[in-house]
Amino acid sequence: MAAAPDAGAAPDQPTIGVLALQGDVREHIAVLAECGAHPVLVRRPDELAAVDALVLPGGESTAISKLLEIFELLEPVRARLRAGMPAFGSCAGMILLASEVLDTRADAKHLDGIDMTVRRNAFGRQVDSFETDIEFAGLPGDPVRAVFIRAPWVERAGDGVEVLARVPSGPAAGRIVAVRQGRVVATAFHPEVTGDHRVHRMFVDLVRGVALSSDTVPST
Ligand code: GLN
Repeated sequence: MAAAPDAGAAPDQPTIGVLALQGDVREHIAVLAECGAHPVLVRRPDELAAVDALVLPGGESTAISKLLEIFELLEPVRARLRAGMPAFGSCAGMILLASEVLDTRADAKHLDGIDMTVRRNAFGRQVDSFETDIEFAGLPGDPVRAVFIRAPWVERAGDGVEVLARVPSGPAAGRIVAVRQGRVVATAFHPEVTGDHRVHRMFVDLVRGVALSSDTVPST
């Protein structure tokens, strides 16, 4: 089926798909709607073809990886990313968007959306879930409340990758937990669960073609 005629019907209300194979799909759908986008579920290649952008939710990256293959979405999503489709991944979604993943299953696939090496379950058992306030480049005002649930971190960010946020303190201080490369954004934490919609709003604006500020990268 060709792209749905309503995809991007209103320029200020982009059609944003949420990859709906596994994970916290509903939370992203709700936040995207509140940010003025037109969110739709993506489970099939024709549904992918109809969206302006794609959100990859949190969940279990190895399960989503397997389901991407079973639902014949792995190559179509890679192709859309290569063609410049904006995307946002949270947690498992960040892992899927990486070009290299450490500590994952040997047969797990990823999407090469961002030139980065991500370590899965990086924070370890002691602190596998925690919350903290972080400075997020391009989002002035209050820090962002970041909820980490068995989260990854970015171990290597490629030259074209902008660091948007780092862990501010504690044993993992300085670790990269939010990045952007072009129109692809990833966070190790879950902005979809906090009620603070600024990260999603930034992404929706980015999909609308509004350039992000890139000169407020927090230091280590
Ligand atoms: N640990 C999960 C994974 O490896 C990610 C957790 C999450 O998305 N909250 O995919």
